[in-house]
Amino acid sequence: MAESCVFCNIAAGGVEANVVYRDELVTAFRDLNPQAPTHILVIPNEHVESIAHIGDHHPTLVLRMMVVANRIAASEGLEGGYRLVTNVGTDAGQSVMHLHFHVLGGRKLAWPPG
Ligand code: 5GP
Ligand code: ZN
Repeated sequence: MAESCVFCNIAAGGVEANVVYRDELVTAFRDLNPQAPTHILVIPNEHVESIAHIGDHHPTLVLRMMVVANRIAASEGLEGGYRLVTNVGTDAGQSVMHLHFHVLGGRKLAWPPG
């Protein structure tokens, strides 16, 4: 765990978050500043900086994150569709350097993104 990383602290239960799912590999919680009616972040419990740092070591972890994201979309009633996004690095606007998938839905989402 990276002591100063807010998402490591949420995964460890040391920082308050509206957690919707937790298992031994991943945690999912509502975004503090939601950009859509449903905006949930799915993170690995272990510190991985971004999807660009996943290498060959974590294939099961990424699969679990995606399965959890899909289950969340179903439980949130996003039958009309949703977006699964992960920002990598500053040019993409990554502001928390702990891998996270955004699950966004509940409204029509514009494309292309800004
Ligand atoms: P990024 O910009 O890195 O792709 O996304 C980071 C997301 O984390 C943002 O949508 C931001 O609102 C959210 N966020 C940052 N700090 C916290 C926090 O302490 N708690 C929660 N629930 N969300 C956070
Ligand atoms: Zn972390």
